[in-house]
Amino acid sequence: MVLDRLRRGSAGRDPKKIPDGLWVKCPSCTKTVFKRLVEERQDTCPECNHHFTMLAHARIQLLIDDGTWSEWDPDLTSGDPLGFVDSKPYTERIAQSMAKTGLKDAVITGTGSLAGLALGLGVMDFSFNGGSMGSVVGEKLTRMIERSTAARMPVVIVSTSGGARMQEGALSLMQMAKTSAALARHAVARLPYISVLTNPTMAGVMASYASLGDVIIAEPKALIGFTGPRVIKETIKQELPDGFQTSEFLHQHGQLDLIVARQDMKAELGRILRYLTPAAPIH
Ligand SMILES: [Zn+2]
Repeated sequence: MVLDRLRRGSAGRDPKKIPDGLWVKCPSCTKTVFKRLVEERQDTCPECNHHFTMLAHARIQLLIDDGTWSEWDPDLTSGDPLGFVDSKPYTERIAQSMAKTGLKDAVITGTGSLAGLALGLGVMDFSFNGGSMGSVVGEKLTRMIERSTAARMPVVIVSTSGGARMQEGALSLMQMAKTSAALARHAVARLPYISVLTNPTMAGVMASYASLGDVIIAEPKALIGFTGPRVIKETIKQELPDGFQTSEFLHQHGQLDLIVARQDMKAELGRILRYLTPAAPIH
């Protein structure tokens, strides 16, 4: 109650006392918690371990050994091949996402070492246009995979996405085939790919690279699926089980290999990658 009053105060009566964004309400346990505490715990709730959305840069910092990260294709930006306009022009939408996030598109790719092991990494960011996959996301991931194959490095992709980017139409859908083909060549070269699914991973992303991992890991209670429950229900004309698009349900039914809490993700990825690449040098 006191916290609620303080939060209301921050919005109205005494804005100086409670700086904006000092507290955050957990959508899972509904408790109001210190934002600083949440950030110190890699964006998880100190009360119930709910996993909040994590920005791509923070994720890279979490997974990659200090001082080893090198970003690839940081300046690749989207065109507007269809001249698409919905509630606003696509070019304006992209410019706003860039200004809001400081990113050029919805994925960051590069190379670094994870627990001493060199790898190619792609991390999606939901805050950029809902993590949607357009030509830039597909191209950056494909280049990352191809470079990793050439350098004989494993690949890890951390996904979060609402799906393909409708403003690029069929060009977005083509990214599904392009990324999948690159991963197929990576597999033929007998190199591992681990897919990490975070909340939410949906639609065209889930239907392509996110579900193609040799090992597929999800964070707890992530929403994972192809399309929304209403559309599925109308299509197959059947009642759907509760929570059928969660990590836990998918794990129970064999779609995922592991559910790993964010705090343990780096250690677990390191363990699996070492197992899959026995010849890798150990630093
Ligand atoms: Zn909580």
